[in-house]
Amino acid sequence: MKSRTPLVAGNWKMNGRQDLLAEMAQVLAGYDGAAEVVICPPYPYLAAARSVLPATIGVGGQNLSDQDDGAFTGEVSAPMLAEVGCGYVIIGHSERRALYEETDALIAAKFSRAQAAGLVPILCVGETLEEREAGDTEAVVCGQLQAVVDAVGIAAFDRAVVAYEPVWAIGTGRTASPEQAQEVHASLRKSLAQNDKDIAESLCLLYGGSVKADNAALLFAQSDIDGGLIGGASLTADSFIAICQAA
Ligand code: PGA
Repeated sequence: MKSRTPLVAGNWKMNGRQDLLAEMAQVLAGYDGAAEVVICPPYPYLAAARSVLPATIGVGGQNLSDQDDGAFTGEVSAPMLAEVGCGYVIIGHSERRALYEETDALIAAKFSRAQAAGLVPILCVGETLEEREAGDTEAVVCGQLQAVVDAVGIAAFDRAVVAYEPVWAIGTGRTASPEQAQEVHASLRKSLAQNDKDIAESLCLLYGGSVKADNAALLFAQSDIDGGLIGGASLTADSFIAICQAA
């Protein structure tokens, strides 16, 4: 039995409309599982998500600015996310790293802004297929994590979640096997333990990358996997709730 509370977060990415929110609200009203559940819809739906979802379901942003206010057209800040009812925010998703060239330094700055506004960051790390095939998985993911630890300090990780998302498994239908995922999760926890043993032990570590209703239970049963960050399967109420129930 793990002592950490499991967490399942749905990352809608740039998908979903009001009707999906209404459907999720209805289905999640009947949810009484052990896992904490968080929905991360696009920015325009955050305030509505907070008002229609049950109070026990968390709401999270998918990104944020590294600044709090100012002349940054198109950006959204941590205090704004907090004010509309977010408790979480995804930071450093591989799509942001790859498509918007987010660096470890920017990701660390966003992490600090999020925590300063009272949000729990869900920090994503993950290797590409090329990196995995070169045998660099552990170095890449632990390096991404340590870059943020070095910038913000290990103590900040007592109010954070980390998600391991192999880039080759995201949206591809190709999931890491439970053993592959567990191996990386154990490495991440071990590398954090070199900074602080207690924080490493209590940190909630999610797996993400083609998690579906039929593979979630085996992934979540691994000793270092504490839940999931769900993309595609979070867009269907039935599959999302089945995944939540598996955690
Ligand atoms: P996926 O996405 O579940 O569609 O693979 C996961 C993610 O990118 O967070």
